[in-house]
Amino acid sequence: MDLSTIEPLYDKKAKCIYCQNTFTTKKIRSRFVKPLKIEQDFGPLFKEGEENNPLLYYVTVCSECGFSFTEDFSHHISEASRKKVQKEITEKMDKVTDFWGKRNVNQAVRAYKLAIYSAQLVLEKHIVFANLCLRLAWLYRGIGNQQEEKRFLELAVSEFEKSYIHTDFKTETTPEVSILYLIGEINRRLGNYNEAITYFTAVAEHPERSRYTKYVNYAREQWQLAAREYREKKG
Ligand SMILES: [Zn+2]
Repeated sequence: MDLSTIEPLYDKKAKCIYCQNTFTTKKIRSRFVKPLKIEQDFGPLFKEGEENNPLLYYVTVCSECGFSFTEDFSHHISEASRKKVQKEITEKMDKVTDFWGKRNVNQAVRAYKLAIYSAQLVLEKHIVFANLCLRLAWLYRGIGNQQEEKRFLELAVSEFEKSYIHTDFKTETTPEVSILYLIGEINRRLGNYNEAITYFTAVAEHPERSRYTKYVNYAREQWQLAAREYREKKG
């Protein structure tokens, strides 16, 4: 096997949750993913114009019906939701954008918005919306669009809060402290310092804190940063 011919992008088989169509979509081989840094809300930052950014390929768009989804989506769609998808997505399908080859930021943004809309029509869990909105905010951060980054961080934090209240995330793979930490950090980024400190404190005092020291340490650091920013802002 000649390693020099391995391309960053590869074809991944996908099956549509809505219409069962099978098709291929692009993913990036992890060895080519080289962020410059990872931000405190876990958003990866890449050099300008970096094409090997997995955020571009987080959403899968069905080539037949346009339904757009991620690995978090439920595989069950109710009859009522099916009718809505048919009317709102399939009949209005975007036949111009190529979602199945190499994607640029604009194509990826379009895919995220389609997935958010698809998730609304099938009444997905709050954690699914939260993960979509957070990643879309990271994508906007990468191109320096602060206004849209802020808008999607606001949506993400509200969905993470609802997800926490209803515990609609998978507790086996996502510790509750990680959700509390993220709610704190997104609030800090939005300048909501009181909320940020409330959530960072909840991480530090969480019953499972000794199991998840990584998040407890992050929360302590970001608590101090939030307190400092708050004092500076008050002048
Ligand atoms: Zn489909």
